[in-house]
Amino acid sequence: MLAEVRALLILQDRDRRLLALAKDLEKLPQDEARAKTKLAGNEAAVKKAHDAVLECELRLKRLELDVGTRRTTIQRLKIQQFETRKNEEYQALAHEVTRYEKDADDLETRELEIMEEMDTLRAAHKAAEAALAHTRTLVDEDLASITTRHARMEAERAELTAEREQLATQVPEAILPLYHRLMKSKGGVAVSPMHEGKCGGCHMKLIASTVVAVQTAKEITRCEDCGRILYVED
Ligand SMILES: [Zn+2]
Repeated sequence: MLAEVRALLILQDRDRRLLALAKDLEKLPQDEARAKTKLAGNEAAVKKAHDAVLECELRLKRLELDVGTRRTTIQRLKIQQFETRKNEEYQALAHEVTRYEKDADDLETRELEIMEEMDTLRAAHKAAEAALAHTRTLVDEDLASITTRHARMEAERAELTAEREQLATQVPEAILPLYHRLMKSKGGVAVSPMHEGKCGGCHMKLIASTVVAVQTAKEITRCEDCGRILYVED
């Protein structure tokens, strides 16, 4: 194998690792976003459960007020009843008191029901908060792992970049532009092995003179079809 082709192969290996790293690095923000969306569902559930508790508290308060109003009315009616001297009016007031008392009792029964409902809603709210806390722990772990991965990949990228710069100096300068052009246009493979007279990059059958040129390895030989630099594996 030509010395410069050997140098190019090593350079290509580092460049391909750099390309793969760049691809993985690009995915990290998506991984991060995906981890965070896991929280959104739990957060919405907590808000919904909390809203239900608030709404129930409001209903209960309104009911308490209603009961209070009834009780005040009953007291007023009883005073009127005490003060009246007319039997007919007394009876009418007594009838009113009974009606209001029945009303107040019904409201109090409803109050007890709502209090029970409130217990259930508060328990559901607590459970939703626990679920959120659990998910948050998992998401925090995910995010921490993403941060670690990011740092490791950046370090690897810096190391590989330094290494490839060093390797590039070992490749004759005249070949580098061609190599870079091929790397860009041929999907990250500029140098391909020749197998059974075929280009390892585009798999086209090579003409006999090209096959011989690659085998003798006296000069840089390229696939006549895709243009990749060819070599025979040692
Ligand atoms: Zn080819």
